[in-house]
Amino acid sequence: MPAWPDCGARIARALLICACTLLTYNATAAESLSLKPIRLSEHIWYVQGQAGPASATNQGFISNAGFVVTPEGVVVIDALGTPALGRALLAAIRRVSDKPIRRVIVTHYHSDHFYGLPAFKATGADIWAHRNAREYLDGSIAQARLAQRQRELALWVNERTQLVRPNRWLEGSLSFVLGGLHFDLIYVGPAHAPDDLAVMVREDAVLFSGDIVFSGRIPFVGDADSRRWLAAMDELLQLNPKVLVPGHGAASRDAAADLVLTRDYLRYLRAAMGKAAEELLPFDEAYQQTDWSKYKHMPAFEASNRINAYGTYLLLERESLQR
Ligand SMILES: [Zn+2]
Repeated sequence: MPAWPDCGARIARALLICACTLLTYNATAAESLSLKPIRLSEHIWYVQGQAGPASATNQGFISNAGFVVTPEGVVVIDALGTPALGRALLAAIRRVSDKPIRRVIVTHYHSDHFYGLPAFKATGADIWAHRNAREYLDGSIAQARLAQRQRELALWVNERTQLVRPNRWLEGSLSFVLGGLHFDLIYVGPAHAPDDLAVMVREDAVLFSGDIVFSGRIPFVGDADSRRWLAAMDELLQLNPKVLVPGHGAASRDAAADLVLTRDYLRYLRAAMGKAAEELLPFDEAYQQTDWSKYKHMPAFEASNRINAYGTYLLLERESLQR
């Protein structure tokens, strides 16, 4: 027999070895994620996700999460975007404190903020979120987003990924004291999401804004209520935080300055799409005519801008009908 079949078998074997090596490498990469907590104040740390949309390169680490260490236990704010990231966050907390994880506050049920919950559920921590997250979890969007994440982050999000529900639904804003620290959970939705919560830790004057503030990238707006969102930013500024931790991007010690990108972008979207809706200009035409040069080079522009503009166009159409 000619050498071909043998050669074919050798190539197949080599490819298989290659694929296995790659899989092992990636599985190791998924588990070897190490997050570096950045200290913000006496009791508070956060981890900062990378700019841009979720991809295999950033392993879905695109949002922030924080934790507050009190003498009576740890409170975590958000759980990151994959089960592996949740485990890595828990490991990072464990390098700072061995106190029990008492509760996780989810600022809103978007995949990049809550897919890491299984690790915290396993510790027995309470998981709190605003009741409007039910809309998302019980509707079709949660499943559609999960399918999308399974494609984008196949090594980290798969058919076994659980969408963990809160074990306490909040009706609105709520304050509690733990280990002598006062936590204010402030309901600011529906703005970026129907269930937006911000978390202020009074003694340290640190504010976790959730996705009411994005820093260093184009926000994800989608079909959000941008009018309410702009009002929510004003409410948060009134709290005068010493440190603001946005949902995405670096923490800031100048909250007013850090809000500018999100605020100006929302205003620009509303002005441009509002004008188009008023003039009954079709969306595609309006989108093409709009000057996006100020935002075009920012991270997440390609992934988010068109869908943001479209959502805003529809919203402004509805708003103009209400007038
Ligand atoms: Zn979000």
